[in-house]
Amino acid sequence: MGCAACSKEAVEGVSLPGSGACGRCKQAWYCSRECQTSDWPTHSKACVRPNYVVHAQLGAEAIAWRLRAVISDPPVERTLSCPSNATFTQLHEALQVAFGWASTHTYDFNILDPEFGPDSNGDNAMLDMMQRAMGKINPDSPREYALRILDKKNGDFFVDSTHDNQRAHPRTLEKPSRSTKLYQIFEDPKYGDGIMVYTYDFGDRWEHLLTVTRRADPTTKFQCVDGIGHGVAENVVQTGWAELKEAYRTKEPNKEQREKMQWYERQASNGSPQGLKNGREHVFDKDEVDAKLSVRTIN
Ligand SMILES: [Zn+2]
Ligand SMILES: [Zn+2]
Repeated sequence: MGCAACSKEAVEGVSLPGSGACGRCKQAWYCSRECQTSDWPTHSKACVRPNYVVHAQLGAEAIAWRLRAVISDPPVERTLSCPSNATFTQLHEALQVAFGWASTHTYDFNILDPEFGPDSNGDNAMLDMMQRAMGKINPDSPREYALRILDKKNGDFFVDSTHDNQRAHPRTLEKPSRSTKLYQIFEDPKYGDGIMVYTYDFGDRWEHLLTVTRRADPTTKFQCVDGIGHGVAENVVQTGWAELKEAYRTKEPNKEQREKMQWYERQASNGSPQGLKNGREHVFDKDEVDAKLSVRTIN
């Protein structure tokens, strides 16, 4: 490996001060800080940050103590390769496509405060909840999120805006999803190692645990890498989803179960006319998602 500016060869086992790969693209190597600086006018034209491969798990057990819903049997997971300069609004839109959500509710991305635990609210939990519901929160109360990335315009969703009070905190930093880019958070040492959760629908609170698993070649589109489990129906909460799957598994469904299936096939905002019979609860079509994602170019 030679220096991209002066071609000096790297000496094995010797790392000079200032030497190393370009922090942005991780591709070009320099023998010194000076070489990197002098090469930047040329290199900047070719320097592109690699994509983030983001694994998203709906209702992940790993953070079960703080989730309203744990989704299993089958789990519902998606893996997307994401352009580094996509905004969080664009990531939200890609996740909506990948999970088959209908975009009828608002969302936010959170970095969890590592200090916050299952018993953080202790004896004050009830009081804390009441104060939050009224939009009044004691700044000294435990903070669940270190950071929230959200779309303030989503205040239009009335039901969700009332729940928004319960998520806000005076010590939680807020950033607008429309102008915050993925690399600005994923490469910020303050947040890069934190646990990130994407919450869709503040009422049902569908929480997706997001993990950057690796980097990949840069692209101008989101790509679906992998996935398991059929997308979950909106507006049913965790128990409703389990009941719906049960209705489809039952050989002789009762009246209530038949009504649930009819609702899913004819009325649900993200339902499916084929329903979930014959193991369709396991079906995930990566190519279909990828085709939908490829319509949109990120620049
Ligand atoms: Zn050099
Ligand atoms: Zn570079």
